[in-house]
Amino acid sequence: MTDLFSDIPVADCHIHYGNPMLMKGLMNILDKNRIGKCNIVCTPHEKRLSLVPDALHLKAHYPEKVYVFGGLDISALFMYHETCGTYFANYVDTLLAMGCDGVKMIEGKPDMRKRLPIPAFDGPAYAPYWVKMEAIGLPVVFHVNDPEEFWDVKQVPEWAREQGWYYGDGSYINNEVQYNEVINVLRRHPGLKVIFAHFFFLSNQLERLAGYLDEFPNMHVDLTPGIEMFHNFSKKPQSVHDFFIKYQDRILYGTDIGAKALLAEVGEEIELEESKMRVDLVRSFLENEGGFRLNTEKGYLFGKFSGWFQGIHLPKEVLNKIYSRNFEKLAGKQPRPINAAKIIQECQRLMEIIPIMSAAQPGQIGDTSVAKQVINYFEGKAN
Ligand SMILES: [Zn+2]
Repeated sequence: MTDLFSDIPVADCHIHYGNPMLMKGLMNILDKNRIGKCNIVCTPHEKRLSLVPDALHLKAHYPEKVYVFGGLDISALFMYHETCGTYFANYVDTLLAMGCDGVKMIEGKPDMRKRLPIPAFDGPAYAPYWVKMEAIGLPVVFHVNDPEEFWDVKQVPEWAREQGWYYGDGSYINNEVQYNEVINVLRRHPGLKVIFAHFFFLSNQLERLAGYLDEFPNMHVDLTPGIEMFHNFSKKPQSVHDFFIKYQDRILYGTDIGAKALLAEVGEEIELEESKMRVDLVRSFLENEGGFRLNTEKGYLFGKFSGWFQGIHLPKEVLNKIYSRNFEKLAGKQPRPINAAKIIQECQRLMEIIPIMSAAQPGQIGDTSVAKQVINYFEGKAN
């Protein structure tokens, strides 16, 4: 099916990867879907704190193919709550020294914001971090909010509720409050190179999104589903087409391949078919002329959106930008080289801090096994 698509180089800017045992499966999926380069976006992990070691281990095996956007060290949110931004500003240097290409922040996803002691993004705690990020021009993939339906008891899809993503009970941050915080940050730091994941969840408010893109020339969005995004786009394909033409330099291709395995229990492979469906959805939308049908039953978190979608049939030069060039402009034409000694150092630090963090959270058992495995790999003792 993917042969139906144009033969344009693809760099997927939004892939999840949470364990070295998934390496073979992921590489097979990338090959089968002709994804030449991928960006691993690292989210925090309850038992292991960080998935950055896993991603850099993958990058060590495929140094020309794999970019890594490292997650911030969430232990700082607990230990240096008021001054976490100073800590994060320094931690960015650690990420860079290990060989990361950017930063991933999932801290704006409402359930994360509730679970972790995350201060206001536009408050004093984070301020030094934004100063640093703007100054060094390091790109950040930032997940802020979720589909607007998730705050509405009448509209929240059943599958989202099952994931614990109904946010309307008053115990979660409101999406407009969070948009406000983030826009305040951009007004103070217009040089910040930011890629808002999932179209900033504004696929239903394109005029508003256009206003932000006009105001902030370094702001970007990625096309990672949220199926609701493509459902919204399909309602008005002509104006969506014009939007994509106008903002062709600001939109990046992404799929969320690996997200399902990440949310599942350890031991689950990244599924070939589920991944392919994500590729088919985004690429059909970008490339097809007219309607296309997608059977979403096997699509994880795709709910009951089975049915017709509209393609916007973009010209090749625009596809080129969305599929890879916009990402490469932000993250570099080649992934940055890794530094084994720095990675070992960070894994050793994680091995010390994981037991402390897990002891502080009742019922939580820390897991240092991957950190250990990655140390062994970089010391030449294991694969
Ligand atoms: Zn994701």
